[in-house]
Amino acid sequence: MTRERIYLFDTTLRDGQQTPGVDFSVEDKIAISNLLDEFGIDYVEGGYPGANPTDTAFFSEKRTEKSTFVAFGMTKRAGISASNDPGLAVLLQAKSDAICFVAKSWDYHVRVALGCSNEENLEAIRESVEAARSAAKEAMVDCEHFFDGYKANPKYALACAKTAYEAGARWVVLCDTNGGTQPHEIREIVSAVIAAGIPGSSLGIHAHDDTGQAVANSLAAVEAGCRQIQGTLNGIGERCGNANLVTLIATLSLKKTYSSRFETAIDAESLTGLTALSHAFDELLNRSPNHQSPYVGASAFATKAGIHASALLKDPRTYEHVTPESVGNFRKVMVSDQGGKSNFINALKRRGIEVAKDDPKLDQLISIVKEREASGYAYEGADASFELLARRTLGTIPEFFTVEGFRVMVERRFDSHGRIKIVSEAVVKIAVDGETHMSVAEGDGPVNALDRALRKDFGKYQHEIDDLVLADFKVRILNGGTEAITRVLIESTDSSGVRWWTVGVSENIIDASFQALMDSVIYKLMKNRELAGKIAAE
Ligand SMILES: [Zn+2]
Repeated sequence: MTRERIYLFDTTLRDGQQTPGVDFSVEDKIAISNLLDEFGIDYVEGGYPGANPTDTAFFSEKRTEKSTFVAFGMTKRAGISASNDPGLAVLLQAKSDAICFVAKSWDYHVRVALGCSNEENLEAIRESVEAARSAAKEAMVDCEHFFDGYKANPKYALACAKTAYEAGARWVVLCDTNGGTQPHEIREIVSAVIAAGIPGSSLGIHAHDDTGQAVANSLAAVEAGCRQIQGTLNGIGERCGNANLVTLIATLSLKKTYSSRFETAIDAESLTGLTALSHAFDELLNRSPNHQSPYVGASAFATKAGIHASALLKDPRTYEHVTPESVGNFRKVMVSDQGGKSNFINALKRRGIEVAKDDPKLDQLISIVKEREASGYAYEGADASFELLARRTLGTIPEFFTVEGFRVMVERRFDSHGRIKIVSEAVVKIAVDGETHMSVAEGDGPVNALDRALRKDFGKYQHEIDDLVLADFKVRILNGGTEAITRVLIESTDSSGVRWWTVGVSENIIDASFQALMDSVIYKLMKNRELAGKIAAE
């Protein structure tokens, strides 16, 4: 049986950007569009060229290879012709393959927000779609507040959708812009739109999560006939977020009720990259992944030790609704029992560390990891620190140097022109082969000063860390109030292009940073000697 194709449309870079606290730079946008493109999403909407300098710069070139690259913008204004509308001109000139126009489809909004007549709004939709098509771009129209508009005036909402379709829009997207519509209403209204003459193969759904049903509403729309789904990575978006594409992709691919009838661009092999995609995006946002996310959360396939755990390991199918491997996630059984132990042994093996199952040092390592994770360390995101901890506990790390101490001073003062100046100065004292090396350096901030001081005199290792670059630095406060604990993650790289992550945890942000910095340097020294780094090089 041939299956019908469902098209996936990602709006992380446009609607997702509405999330409070999220603001993408051009570099972020490039990184995210690469993730989406490589993963295989059909459409990547990049933003609103002309609306702000970031989006304009982002659209100065085409940013995807396989995905259709989409610019978003308004339909032409009423009262001027399409060829004289400067906003439309910017959209047509953007280096995109497609344009997604946003159009009003509720007569109340046409009157109040646009201040034009219903007929002028239809004309704006028609002429904008035609202009995009003449510019050889795929055209689509997001019908804003479609479901509410339909409830208020079905005739006019349908007229907007039909005008877009008849003008040649590839997709007419029905938007539940305020997220209040319920699944059965979505089903009924989509069916009515199809009955009115727009085929489901040209209809899309754009759902928001204000009643926690954005995914359910998207699936209801698919059931009713829509063949394009708009959503965002991890469901980010304004207010309560958009439909979570990560969840939708897994459900469409793995649940027989959908997979027997529909297919997406994501095949079984690509699907195993889903967890990595979701986590990479959280990493970019500098937020910790939600452990309880469907399919991709760290707890999605976790079981506490006990009756379930041993039965689970005998036959996981009776306990899990899908296999964790299918989405690139892992089965997790708490580390103290046998299953956990073999997980640990496997994790170590991948790093080239062999340890016997009955080695008491292994139990020691497991309890140290548990204890440290409880106090705030996150080894999941800091592979290099995990590897160092394992090697240290199992006794295979040479003592390259010891840190005798460090001191950091931060001074806020006025310079001779009366301007405020913040100066950070660090002193680092290390011992190499029994000889003390002390260096002082200034830097842009305390961590930079520490890094500079360390590099100033590192004894015989001086040149070994010349190519070490601290690529990224992330700080997270773990619990509020005066007893807050700080976790610092450092991403490092060197001339080989390999990247590794280290972690430090302390009540003091400088100390946490210093721990992560030390792990990075030691890892680099290990790596130089081919004593470490198998995972990082993968
Ligand atoms: Zn939206």
